[in-house]
Amino acid sequence: MRIQTIRGTHDILPGEIELWQAVEEVARRQASLYGFSEIRTPVFEDTRLFLRGIGESTDIVGKEMYTFTDKNDESVTLRPEMTASIARAVVQHSLLEQNPVARLWYFGPMFRRERPQKGRQRQFHQFGAELLGARNPEADAEVIALAWSVVASLGITRVRLEINTLGSQAARAAYRAALVEYFTPHREELSEDSRNRLDTNPLRILDSKSPADAPFVERAPRLHDFLDDESRSYWQQVCALLDALEIPYTVSDRLVRGLDYYEHTVFELIGTELGAQAALGGGGRYDGLVEQLGGKPSPGVGFALGAERLLIAMEAEKVVPPVSARADVMVIALGDDTAAYSLRLLSLFRRAGLSAVSDVQRRSMKAQFREANRLGAKAVCIIGADEVAAGTAAVKILATGEQTTVAFAHAAAHVLSAVGQ
Ligand code: AMP
Repeated sequence: MRIQTIRGTHDILPGEIELWQAVEEVARRQASLYGFSEIRTPVFEDTRLFLRGIGESTDIVGKEMYTFTDKNDESVTLRPEMTASIARAVVQHSLLEQNPVARLWYFGPMFRRERPQKGRQRQFHQFGAELLGARNPEADAEVIALAWSVVASLGITRVRLEINTLGSQAARAAYRAALVEYFTPHREELSEDSRNRLDTNPLRILDSKSPADAPFVERAPRLHDFLDDESRSYWQQVCALLDALEIPYTVSDRLVRGLDYYEHTVFELIGTELGAQAALGGGGRYDGLVEQLGGKPSPGVGFALGAERLLIAMEAEKVVPPVSARADVMVIALGDDTAAYSLRLLSLFRRAGLSAVSDVQRRSMKAQFREANRLGAKAVCIIGADEVAAGTAAVKILATGEQTTVAFAHAAAHVLSAVGQ
């Protein structure tokens, strides 16, 4: 029996992982430039966290969660996103009591039982950041700027930032009521999804891609007409800050995002040539979430970027990340009784900061040279019985072909001076 990965999950193999590491490195670097610290939370949580945090009317909670009953009859769920987990951690560890503001970033796998296709998996990865404890437009602008910087630093240019405001919870509630009133007479003409959403999450009808819904969505009431003065002023300040940072954006008053916890600012980064799964990431403000999870009222704003989609966008733009050599030095050990000497030489190289391997298959010299080239080695170090007896190493610098016999203890320094590391 050959067992394979589960549908919608993927191995990331050597050859691909270098690209992932480059993406993680860029994300980590940008997050630290913005003053964010990493947080790692468990991959599975008490199911109630997501029911409460994300909301039962959302697609994620309604149909996509991997939920199972543990042996002690507790219901647990593989995390479908991180914001709820972070809010839980902030409450559980009183993070906002030690500092008024928490700036947190994460990278890790998320799980949603969606129909797999290119750019949509059941286990996928997100890089994201959350800024908790501040309810001012500059916090929203900082978070959007970080998301934008990550995408830009990865070399992705074919991307559009869409932003919108959902207004305060009160404005959102008034708008929701107006949508129900507007859509209800057309109920039977709407798509099945939208009929369901009319009862559970009417704002999501605006997200519908169904042609049946298009004419009704087109004439639906506009959210911006329901904004109170405070919400409108907040929104204008966020836009002004993005202008000041020269971050280009388009205002999309149909952008609502799927989750219940958002209010005020919401945004998405859309890959402009990515087809059906074009959202590279998105986020927004969630001022009620921490309180809903039992903490003191604490505002928050954050985003998540999908790593798989970032990689697809980079591929589409032919962004080539730096691929580092898999070994700087290859030690070619020939004949019997050279293994101990060679392994000690490998240790010497590694202590000097050079990655080094030897051929553990005891192949011919020619085969070992071929392997050195395949690994991108800059130097090889040939060890036979003579070198062992003399306490030396024959070091060949591959770029120049120059070969020198040096004392064992000087081998690493010789390679370093020749290849300039
Ligand atoms: P969301 O939390 O749904 O707003 O997702 C944020 C980002 O995560 C999306 O824009 C995608 O880039 C990525 N993402 C969400 N769901 C999936 C999935 N099933 N497969 C791959 N990426 C996903």
